[in-house]
Amino acid sequence: MLDRLPKFIDPLLLTERGRDINGEMKLSALPRLAELLADERGVVVFELSFFKQGGQAVLQGKITTVLKLRCQNCLQTLDWPVDCTFRLGVVSSLDEAKRLPEDLEPLLVGQEKTVLKDIIEEELLLSVPLFPKHAKQCFDYRQYSDAPTETRQSKTDHPFAVLAKLKK
Ligand SMILES: [Zn+2]
Repeated sequence: MLDRLPKFIDPLLLTERGRDINGEMKLSALPRLAELLADERGVVVFELSFFKQGGQAVLQGKITTVLKLRCQNCLQTLDWPVDCTFRLGVVSSLDEAKRLPEDLEPLLVGQEKTVLKDIIEEELLLSVPLFPKHAKQCFDYRQYSDAPTETRQSKTDHPFAVLAKLKK
């Protein structure tokens, strides 16, 4: 799927023309995200619409996927569904970014080309929690709290007890 999509896009031109870019890409193709995943299999589906809103170039997007994260409580895999929409104001300077209406996050375009997958990856990174955890209580610490006492006792066995057994 990825090879059919453009690697670079020109957001300003796309908003002029009112284009959409829809598609999907592999999560493993997004290295900064893949680093955070317990399992990088799977794809992210996205729909990007480019248009003008009162003279402002806007990119409106929707991304859907299920990320496999590592639960920070039990260290098992955790399904983290992502279904989010975002609105970016396409700007070519920081001054323009400051003037954006509040509901638009800036997407700065300049001399560097805009990489399509960077936009998707950036939005996915924002949806990953700092400490992912299962909703239910998945790890019970009390289960392990009695164990150390018994081990300590066996260690304090008199060393000569072993000798005594050997003599018999
Ligand atoms: Zn867990």
